[in-house]
Amino acid sequence: MRKKKDVIIIGSGVAGLAASVRLAHAGHQVHVFEVNSFPGGKINSKKLGEYRFDQGPSILTGIEYIKELYDLCGEDFLEFEFAELTTSFNYFFNDGLRLNLSSDSKQIVEELSSKLSENKRVLTSHLRKMDGNYRAIAPLFIEKSLHKWRSLIGAPLLKALIRLPKYKLSKTMHEQNAKRFDNPRTVQIFDRFASYNGSHPYQAPAMLNMISHLEINVTPFLPKNGMIQITDAIYALALKQGVKFNFNEKITSIESENGKVTGVKSNLGTYYADKVISNMDVTTTYEQLLPNAVHPTKILEQEKSSSAVVFYWGINKSFPELTLHNSFFTDNTKKEFDSIFNEKRICDDPTIYVNITSKYVEGDAPKGKENWFVMINSPIDVGQDWHSEIQILRKITLKKLSKILGEDIEPLIEEENILEPRTIASKYNGKFGSIYGNSSNNKFSAFHRHANFSTKINGLYFVGVSVHPGGGIPLALNSAKIASDLIINS
Ligand SMILES: Cc1cc2nc3c(=O)[nH]c(=O)nc-3n(C[C@H](O)[C@H](O)[C@H](O)COP(=O)(O)OP(=O)(O)OC[C@H]3O[C@@H](n4cnc5c(N)ncnc54)[C@H](O)[C@@H]3O)c2cc1C
Repeated sequence: MRKKKDVIIIGSGVAGLAASVRLAHAGHQVHVFEVNSFPGGKINSKKLGEYRFDQGPSILTGIEYIKELYDLCGEDFLEFEFAELTTSFNYFFNDGLRLNLSSDSKQIVEELSSKLSENKRVLTSHLRKMDGNYRAIAPLFIEKSLHKWRSLIGAPLLKALIRLPKYKLSKTMHEQNAKRFDNPRTVQIFDRFASYNGSHPYQAPAMLNMISHLEINVTPFLPKNGMIQITDAIYALALKQGVKFNFNEKITSIESENGKVTGVKSNLGTYYADKVISNMDVTTTYEQLLPNAVHPTKILEQEKSSSAVVFYWGINKSFPELTLHNSFFTDNTKKEFDSIFNEKRICDDPTIYVNITSKYVEGDAPKGKENWFVMINSPIDVGQDWHSEIQILRKITLKKLSKILGEDIEPLIEEENILEPRTIASKYNGKFGSIYGNSSNNKFSAFHRHANFSTKINGLYFVGVSVHPGGGIPLALNSAKIASDLIINS
């Protein structure tokens, strides 16, 4: 049977969901097809015994972009409740040094200056500059299409251009941080933000140092029920706006005639629409759904972002020295990232991130126990022997955590599950298991991301972390806004 649809969205990741809300609210008939049995893509949740785990993202910034969806639909954003966090991050170093960062940027400056003898004035001025850079850049390079020059012209462009010298365009993130801070530990702390879009701090442009603004000046947020609340909330908004969802249905091709999109084919049927949005990774969209179309090879062949190995551990003990977000640093950041991007291996002393939502979300772990989400940045899948890589990594991780926390961790593990580059690729259809599409490992990376629309096939649009403006939940939500606005105004 021929079925006519107005807008078809391939994938119900956070970007696909947000686009569906915006378009349905604007009066379009929207149909979302999702290969998995659940909405939210990487923002999903699983129970292991008595423990609950968010499977993907754990750090939420840019909550104003979720609020925008509530406001658009006339819903009260106060209903999207947050946990009241008192801390931001706890940092641990191999030599025993510990830093506790609160959710207040002034206290963070105090902590870094007292424990790392960093100059308070330099820290404060750096944070102010990152704030200024973010405010100047976001309205242009994050909230607008970089590929529609006319939409950029205006007062914000002038404001952004006036600050040009402050972006340190010729420098990398690390070069700017190393020049600014005295203590190599402070440099390490600020370099770490490159991993927030899967990049190498010694190659990513200094402009990306403004990511630290969102975490240090503003603070990360945790929804009251954990990260899964983001999916639950936006999915509920979409249903209320009349969006239709087909789960367990895999789109197998995007159809077009005379340079114009006509619909999609799935494993179950053919569907017609004059607008199609792909929320799949852009590279797999071209490879799997548009094999005969002209491919933007220069963009698709850019270096991919990093991937990750995540151990989900139900831990039969509570650790008061740990908070929601904890980082156990490597001694050598350059070696760690060289290993990920050049050698395509996980180094023998990786930075380990431990996220514990049960510190704030009641019911995520039984009383006196904790749900540990233990993430290590890794290379993409290029055919490594992951079975043995992961066995080695598990040993290294347990040894490092046990030494620093002064407690043998392995006997405390009651439940275990593992996510790794191959499962990221197969579960979410991301090229080589990369988490954010292309990496930002060169000065022009922002210009080497795919646009939110196709220049070859009229009516075809793209949203999600693998296209403009890039990686992370806030940017994925903006990709949805840009693509939806293009459709609404077409
Ligand atoms: C371990 C991990 C940790 C992360 N941590 C953070 C973090 O702390 N903060 C942050 O902001 N971001 C983080 N990210 C990145 C984060 O997941 C993204 O920012 C965001 O969730 C991506 O949303 P998306 O809409 O781009 O894509 P996805 O969530 O990947 O959604 C794409 C959807 O398309 C579906 N699909 C694919 N192919 C087809 C097909 N052929 N037919 C139908 N459906 C299809 C997929 O099943 C999926 O549901 C993390 C990611 C991982 C894996």
